[in-house]
Amino acid sequence: MDGSVEKLPTQAARGKTLKEATYGALKAMILIGELAPGSRLTESALAERLKVSRTPLREALNRLERDGLVTNRPRHGCFVAAFDLKTFEESFGIREVLDGYAAEQAAENASAEDKIRLRGILARSQSLVPPAERSMDQMVEQLQLGLDLHHVIARASGNDQLADTLTRILDRCHHFVWMELLWLDHWNEAHDEHVEIVDAICGGNAERAAGLARHHVRSSRDDIRRLLQARFAYKSALARVS
Ligand SMILES: [Zn+2]
Repeated sequence: MDGSVEKLPTQAARGKTLKEATYGALKAMILIGELAPGSRLTESALAERLKVSRTPLREALNRLERDGLVTNRPRHGCFVAAFDLKTFEESFGIREVLDGYAAEQAAENASAEDKIRLRGILARSQSLVPPAERSMDQMVEQLQLGLDLHHVIARASGNDQLADTLTRILDRCHHFVWMELLWLDHWNEAHDEHVEIVDAICGGNAERAAGLARHHVRSSRDDIRRLLQARFAYKSALARVS
Protein backbone atom coordinates (compact mmCIF):
# COMPACT_ATOMS: atom_id res chain seq x y z
CA MET A 1 0.00 0.00 0.00
CA ASP A 2 1.24 3.49 -0.77
CA GLY A 3 2.21 5.43 2.32
CA SER A 4 -0.03 8.45 2.81
CA VAL A 5 3.11 10.52 3.36
CA GLU A 6 4.01 10.20 -0.32
CA LYS A 7 0.54 11.40 -1.29
CA LEU A 8 1.01 14.77 0.39
CA PRO A 9 2.90 16.58 -2.42
CA THR A 10 0.50 15.10 -5.00
CA GLN A 11 -2.52 16.42 -3.15
CA ALA A 12 -0.86 19.82 -2.79
CA ALA A 13 0.03 19.77 -6.49
CA ARG A 14 -3.59 19.04 -7.37
CA GLY A 15 -4.49 22.46 -6.03
CA LYS A 16 -5.43 21.50 -2.50
CA THR A 17 -4.04 23.89 0.04
CA LEU A 18 -1.26 22.66 2.26
CA LYS A 19 -3.71 22.89 5.14
CA GLU A 20 -6.16 20.53 3.40
CA ALA A 21 -3.39 18.19 2.26
CA THR A 22 -1.94 17.94 5.78
CA TYR A 23 -5.38 17.23 7.23
CA GLY A 24 -6.07 14.60 4.52
CA ALA A 25 -2.73 12.87 4.97
CA LEU A 26 -3.02 12.73 8.74
CA LYS A 27 -6.59 11.51 8.58
CA ALA A 28 -5.64 8.74 6.15
CA MET A 29 -2.77 7.67 8.43
CA ILE A 30 -5.20 7.37 11.35
CA LEU A 31 -7.94 5.61 9.38
CA ILE A 32 -5.69 2.91 7.94
CA GLY A 33 -3.90 2.38 11.27
CA GLU A 34 -0.52 3.73 10.18
CA LEU A 35 -0.81 5.78 13.36
CA ALA A 36 -1.90 3.20 15.93
CA PRO A 37 -5.16 3.70 17.89
CA GLY A 38 -4.41 5.19 21.31
CA SER A 39 -0.86 6.24 20.35
CA ARG A 40 0.55 9.65 21.23
CA LEU A 41 0.94 12.20 18.45
CA THR A 42 4.08 14.27 18.74
CA GLU A 43 3.98 17.52 16.76
CA SER A 44 7.71 17.58 16.03
CA ALA A 45 7.76 13.96 14.78
CA LEU A 46 4.68 14.50 12.59
CA ALA A 47 6.01 17.79 11.19
CA GLU A 48 9.22 16.00 10.26
CA ARG A 49 7.38 13.00 8.76
CA LEU A 50 4.97 15.10 6.68
CA LYS A 51 7.54 17.79 5.86
CA VAL A 52 5.25 20.59 6.99
CA SER A 53 5.52 23.37 9.56
CA ARG A 54 3.71 23.33 12.90
CA THR A 55 0.89 25.69 11.82
CA PRO A 56 -0.94 23.48 9.26
CA LEU A 57 -0.24 20.51 11.52
CA ARG A 58 -1.87 22.14 14.55
CA GLU A 59 -4.89 23.12 12.45
CA ALA A 60 -5.16 19.55 11.15
CA LEU A 61 -4.99 18.16 14.70
CA ASN A 62 -7.70 20.56 15.89
CA ARG A 63 -9.92 19.56 13.01
CA LEU A 64 -9.32 15.85 13.64
CA GLU A 65 -10.22 16.42 17.28
CA ARG A 66 -13.56 17.86 16.15
CA ASP A 67 -13.98 14.81 13.89
CA GLY A 68 -13.50 12.58 16.94
CA LEU A 69 -10.40 10.92 15.48
CA VAL A 70 -7.93 12.60 17.86
CA THR A 71 -8.28 13.30 21.58
CA ASN A 72 -6.47 16.15 23.27
CA ARG A 73 -5.69 15.50 26.94
CA PRO A 74 -4.57 18.66 28.72
CA ARG A 75 -0.95 18.39 29.94
CA HIS A 76 -0.58 15.00 28.19
CA GLY A 77 -0.89 15.94 24.52
CA CYS A 78 -2.76 14.59 21.50
CA PHE A 79 -3.60 10.93 21.00
CA VAL A 80 -5.14 8.90 18.18
CA ALA A 81 -8.70 7.93 19.19
CA ALA A 82 -8.84 4.55 20.90
CA PHE A 83 -11.43 2.82 18.66
CA ASP A 84 -12.49 0.81 21.69
CA LEU A 85 -15.66 -1.17 22.33
CA LYS A 86 -17.51 1.94 23.59
CA THR A 87 -16.68 3.98 20.45
CA PHE A 88 -17.70 1.01 18.35
CA GLU A 89 -21.07 0.43 20.07
CA GLU A 90 -21.92 4.14 20.00
CA SER A 91 -20.94 4.66 16.36
CA PHE A 92 -22.77 1.60 15.04
CA GLY A 93 -25.84 2.35 17.18
CA ILE A 94 -26.14 5.81 15.59
CA ARG A 95 -25.32 4.43 12.14
CA GLU A 96 -28.11 1.89 12.28
CA VAL A 97 -30.70 4.61 12.85
CA LEU A 98 -29.20 7.24 10.53
CA ASP A 99 -28.28 4.89 7.66
CA GLY A 100 -31.86 3.61 7.72
CA TYR A 101 -33.22 7.14 7.63
CA ALA A 102 -30.79 8.21 4.89
CA ALA A 103 -31.74 5.22 2.70
CA GLU A 104 -35.44 5.99 3.22
CA GLN A 105 -34.95 9.65 2.30
CA ALA A 106 -32.70 8.75 -0.64
CA ALA A 107 -35.45 6.50 -2.03
CA GLU A 108 -37.67 9.57 -2.07
CA ASN A 109 -35.17 12.25 -3.11
CA ALA A 110 -32.29 10.68 -5.09
CA SER A 111 -31.65 12.43 -8.42
CA ALA A 112 -30.95 10.58 -11.67
CA GLU A 113 -27.29 11.56 -11.20
CA ASP A 114 -27.22 10.05 -7.67
CA LYS A 115 -28.64 6.80 -9.04
CA ILE A 116 -25.99 6.67 -11.77
CA ARG A 117 -23.27 7.20 -9.16
CA LEU A 118 -24.66 4.43 -6.96
CA ARG A 119 -24.82 2.00 -9.89
CA GLY A 120 -21.29 3.03 -10.91
CA ILE A 121 -19.89 2.22 -7.46
CA LEU A 122 -21.60 -1.19 -7.50
CA ALA A 123 -20.27 -1.96 -10.99
CA ARG A 124 -16.72 -1.05 -9.96
CA SER A 125 -17.02 -3.13 -6.80
CA GLN A 126 -18.36 -6.09 -8.82
CA SER A 127 -15.40 -5.87 -11.22
CA LEU A 128 -12.77 -6.36 -8.50
CA VAL A 129 -11.02 -9.72 -8.34
CA PRO A 130 -12.29 -12.30 -5.77
CA PRO A 131 -11.41 -11.41 -2.14
CA ALA A 132 -8.84 -14.21 -1.72
CA GLU A 133 -6.77 -12.91 -4.65
CA ARG A 134 -6.89 -9.22 -3.77
CA SER A 135 -3.75 -7.22 -3.19
CA MET A 136 -3.62 -4.80 -0.27
CA ASP A 137 -4.28 -1.87 -2.65
CA GLN A 138 -7.38 -3.64 -3.97
CA MET A 139 -8.54 -4.28 -0.39
CA VAL A 140 -8.21 -0.56 0.30
CA GLU A 141 -10.18 0.18 -2.88
CA GLN A 142 -12.88 -2.28 -1.81
CA LEU A 143 -13.14 -0.58 1.57
CA GLN A 144 -13.31 2.85 -0.06
CA LEU A 145 -16.00 1.79 -2.54
CA GLY A 146 -18.15 0.39 0.27
CA LEU A 147 -17.82 3.58 2.29
CA ASP A 148 -18.36 5.77 -0.80
CA LEU A 149 -21.66 4.04 -1.39
CA HIS A 150 -22.82 4.99 2.10
CA HIS A 151 -21.60 8.58 1.61
CA VAL A 152 -23.49 8.90 -1.70
CA ILE A 153 -26.68 7.51 -0.12
CA ALA A 154 -26.31 10.02 2.75
CA ARG A 155 -25.96 12.94 0.28
CA ALA A 156 -28.77 11.59 -1.93
CA SER A 157 -31.12 11.91 1.06
CA GLY A 158 -31.13 15.63 0.29
CA ASN A 159 -30.67 16.38 4.02
CA ASP A 160 -27.28 18.10 4.44
CA GLN A 161 -27.25 17.92 8.24
CA LEU A 162 -27.93 14.21 8.10
CA ALA A 163 -25.15 13.74 5.51
CA ASP A 164 -22.63 15.76 7.58
CA THR A 165 -23.44 13.81 10.73
CA LEU A 166 -23.20 10.48 8.91
CA THR A 167 -19.86 11.48 7.38
CA ARG A 168 -18.40 11.99 10.87
CA ILE A 169 -19.85 8.71 12.11
CA LEU A 170 -18.59 6.81 9.06
CA ASP A 171 -15.08 8.17 9.71
CA ARG A 172 -15.26 6.70 13.20
CA CYS A 173 -16.46 3.36 11.79
CA HIS A 174 -13.68 3.26 9.17
CA HIS A 175 -11.21 1.46 11.44
CA PHE A 176 -13.76 -1.21 12.40
CA VAL A 177 -14.95 -1.79 8.82
CA TRP A 178 -11.32 -2.21 7.77
CA MET A 179 -10.90 -4.87 10.48
CA GLU A 180 -14.02 -6.61 9.20
CA LEU A 181 -12.69 -6.56 5.65
CA LEU A 182 -9.29 -7.94 6.68
CA TRP A 183 -10.47 -10.67 9.02
CA LEU A 184 -13.87 -11.79 7.83
CA ASP A 185 -14.83 -13.30 4.54
CA HIS A 186 -18.27 -11.69 4.39
CA TRP A 187 -17.54 -9.20 1.68
CA ASN A 188 -19.71 -10.87 -0.96
CA GLU A 189 -22.67 -10.78 1.41
CA ALA A 190 -22.05 -7.09 2.04
CA HIS A 191 -21.91 -6.49 -1.72
CA ASP A 192 -25.22 -8.32 -2.25
CA GLU A 193 -26.78 -6.23 0.50
CA HIS A 194 -25.48 -3.05 -1.17
CA VAL A 195 -27.10 -4.15 -4.46
CA GLU A 196 -30.46 -4.71 -2.70
CA ILE A 197 -30.31 -1.33 -0.94
CA VAL A 198 -29.48 0.49 -4.19
CA ASP A 199 -32.28 -1.37 -6.02
CA ALA A 200 -34.77 -0.25 -3.36
CA ILE A 201 -33.53 3.36 -3.51
CA CYS A 202 -33.58 3.49 -7.33
CA GLY A 203 -37.05 1.90 -7.32
CA GLY A 204 -38.32 4.54 -4.91
CA ASN A 205 -39.20 1.94 -2.26
CA ALA A 206 -38.47 3.95 0.90
CA GLU A 207 -39.66 1.47 3.52
CA ARG A 208 -37.73 -1.42 1.99
CA ALA A 209 -34.57 0.71 1.56
CA ALA A 210 -34.71 1.73 5.25
CA GLY A 211 -35.23 -1.85 6.49
CA LEU A 212 -32.41 -3.21 4.32
CA ALA A 213 -29.99 -0.45 5.36
CA ARG A 214 -30.68 -1.06 9.06
CA HIS A 215 -30.22 -4.81 8.63
CA HIS A 216 -26.95 -4.20 6.74
CA VAL A 217 -25.46 -2.12 9.58
CA ARG A 218 -26.73 -4.59 12.22
CA SER A 219 -25.10 -7.61 10.61
CA SER A 220 -21.83 -5.73 10.17
CA ARG A 221 -22.02 -4.64 13.83
CA ASP A 222 -22.60 -8.24 15.04
CA ASP A 223 -19.60 -9.51 13.05
CA ILE A 224 -17.27 -6.78 14.25
CA ARG A 225 -18.44 -7.14 17.86
CA ARG A 226 -17.48 -10.83 17.81
CA LEU A 227 -14.06 -9.88 16.43
CA LEU A 228 -13.50 -7.21 19.08
CA GLN A 229 -14.62 -9.55 21.87
CA ALA A 230 -12.22 -12.23 20.60
CA ARG A 231 -9.42 -9.65 20.53
CA PHE A 232 -10.11 -8.52 24.10
CA ALA A 233 -10.40 -12.11 25.35
CA TYR A 234 -7.05 -12.91 23.72
CA LYS A 235 -5.42 -9.82 25.23
CA SER A 236 -6.63 -10.63 28.75
CA ALA A 237 -5.58 -14.27 28.37
CA LEU A 238 -2.10 -13.04 27.39
CA ALA A 239 -2.05 -10.64 30.34
CA ARG A 240 -2.86 -13.53 32.71
CA VAL A 241 0.03 -15.72 31.54
CA SER A 242 2.64 -12.96 31.42
ZN1 LIG B 1 -22.01 -1.21 3.52
